[in-house]
Amino acid sequence: MLNWRELKREKNFIGGNWVEAESGLSIDVTDPATGETIGTIANAGTRDARRAIDAAKTAFEAWSCTTADHRSKVLRKLSACILDHQDALAELLTREQGKPLAESRLEVGSSAAYILWFAEEARRIYGDIIPSPWPDRRIAVTKEPVGVVGAITPWNFPSSMLARKIGPALAAGCTVVAKPATQTPYSALAYGILAEQAGVPSGVINILTGSAREIGGEMTASPDIAKITFTGSTEVGRLLLRQSADTVKKVSMELGGNAPFIVFDDADLERAVDGAVAAKFRNSGQTCICTNRLYVQAGIYDRFLERFAAAAANLMVGSGLESGITQGPLIDRPAVEKVEQFVADACTKGARIVLGGARRDPESLFFPPTILADARPNMRCSQEEIFGPLAPVYKFETEEEAIKLANDTEYGLACYFYTRDLGRTYRVSEKLKYGLVGVNEGLITTEVAPFGGFKQSGLGKEGSKYGIDDYLSVKYTCIGGI
Ligand code: ADP
Repeated sequence: MLNWRELKREKNFIGGNWVEAESGLSIDVTDPATGETIGTIANAGTRDARRAIDAAKTAFEAWSCTTADHRSKVLRKLSACILDHQDALAELLTREQGKPLAESRLEVGSSAAYILWFAEEARRIYGDIIPSPWPDRRIAVTKEPVGVVGAITPWNFPSSMLARKIGPALAAGCTVVAKPATQTPYSALAYGILAEQAGVPSGVINILTGSAREIGGEMTASPDIAKITFTGSTEVGRLLLRQSADTVKKVSMELGGNAPFIVFDDADLERAVDGAVAAKFRNSGQTCICTNRLYVQAGIYDRFLERFAAAAANLMVGSGLESGITQGPLIDRPAVEKVEQFVADACTKGARIVLGGARRDPESLFFPPTILADARPNMRCSQEEIFGPLAPVYKFETEEEAIKLANDTEYGLACYFYTRDLGRTYRVSEKLKYGLVGVNEGLITTEVAPFGGFKQSGLGKEGSKYGIDDYLSVKYTCIGGI
C-alpha cells in the first residue's frame, strides 16, 4: 500500500512512462491552506500533448478490440485499487485542494463507485435488431467506442471528475488523454500509478499537466481526438466548443451552475435548514451544484434566516487536515476576492450581512460562511456563479414568482426546493428548467443517476446508464441477399 507521498507523481504519464515536459519547464503547486509549495509538476505544451495523443491512438487499436468482460475486470481492479488507497488519496487531495479530509475520503469513495459502475455497464453495451421493412434484408444496430477521448477536469473535484470520464471511456473501449487543473494535478496523476496496478495497458490512460491553452488547443485541433469531455466553467466550455467545431468532435460539457434553493411556507423547516447548509457550504461552496440563490417564502422567511444562520455559525473553518473542520480554504486568491467583491456589491445594493462577511486574516484563503439577507436580483451574486461560501437569501410571495426567479438565468444545472405539498412537488419540479432537481434533499449526486445540465450548463450526461452513451457511436448495418 502506498502512502500519499508515494502517490504524488510530478511527471507526465504518457504511453505507460513517466516523462518530463519536452520544454523541461515546471510549475509549483501550493497547498491553499498554508500557501506552501507542496511540489513541482511538468509544464507540458503542444508537443507533449501530441505525444500523448499518439500513445492513446496506438493503444486504441488493441484496447477497442478487447472483450467487454476483460474491460469490466480491469475497471473493477482499478476501483479496488482506489479503495485500497482511499486514505492516502484523500490526504493527497486535501493537501492540494484544501477540502476537509472527511470530504476528500467521500470524494475518493465516489471515484471508486463511478469506476465500478462503469465496470458493470461495460458488459451492458447492447445493440438492437430492428424488424426489417424488406423480406430479404436484416437490420442490425451495434455500438462502437468513439475513439481517443480528450478529458479536461477542474480543481474542485480533482479525483471524481476524472473518474466520471475515465470510467465510461474505458468501459466503452476508448483510450484517454487527460489534463487536470493545474491547481490540483496530483489526484489525477495518481491515476497513472493506480492504472498500472490495475493492469490498464500502456497508453490507454495518459495524463498531462501544464498549459491549458496549449494542451486544450492541441486536443481540440487534432483529428485523432474523437471526443472532448470537459468539466469546468461555461466560459472555457464555450471556447472548447468553438475549437472543436473545425474537426466536428463529439463533446460532453459539464459547465457552470446558478442553483436556486426554494423554501416554501409549508416546508419542514429543520430539513430545509440542513439541506441549505449542505447544498451551500459543502467544499466551501465550490461545487457547480452548490446553492447560489436561496428563495424563501415570506411566511417562513424570518424563521428560516434565524435557523440557517445558527446552523451555519456551527461550521468550523480551518485546515482540512485538522479534525472537526468542515470548511477548508478557497482554492486561490481570485476566488476569495470574487466573494469579497460580491459581498461589497450586494451591501451597496441593500443586502444585510447576517453571518460572516469578511476574512479574519486578509492574507489567508479562508473565508467564513457568509449569509446575506434581503438579496435582490440586480446583485452580482444573483447573476454570476459564486463558487464560494456566500449565501444570498431572497424573499418571495407566490409559487409563480419563485419559479420565475429560479429560471431567470442562462444556467440550468441543479436546483432544490422544499415543500410538503404533493401537488406543488410535481408542479414546481416540472416547471424548473434544470437537469438535476432535489426535492426536500440538498445532496443528490450518485453514480447511478444522470448528472448534467440544461441550457448553458452543458451537454451530455455523466454517471448512470446514460453516462456511457457519449463514448459510443451507433452503427447501422443492413445485411442483404438473405
Ligand atoms: P474553474 O472556473 O473551475 O477554474 P476553468 O474552466 O477555468 O474552471 O478550468 C477547468 C479546466 O479547464 C482546468 O483544467 C483548466 O486548466 C482548463 N482550461 C482553462 N482554460 C482552458 C483553455 N483555454 N483550453 C483548455 N482548457 C482550459
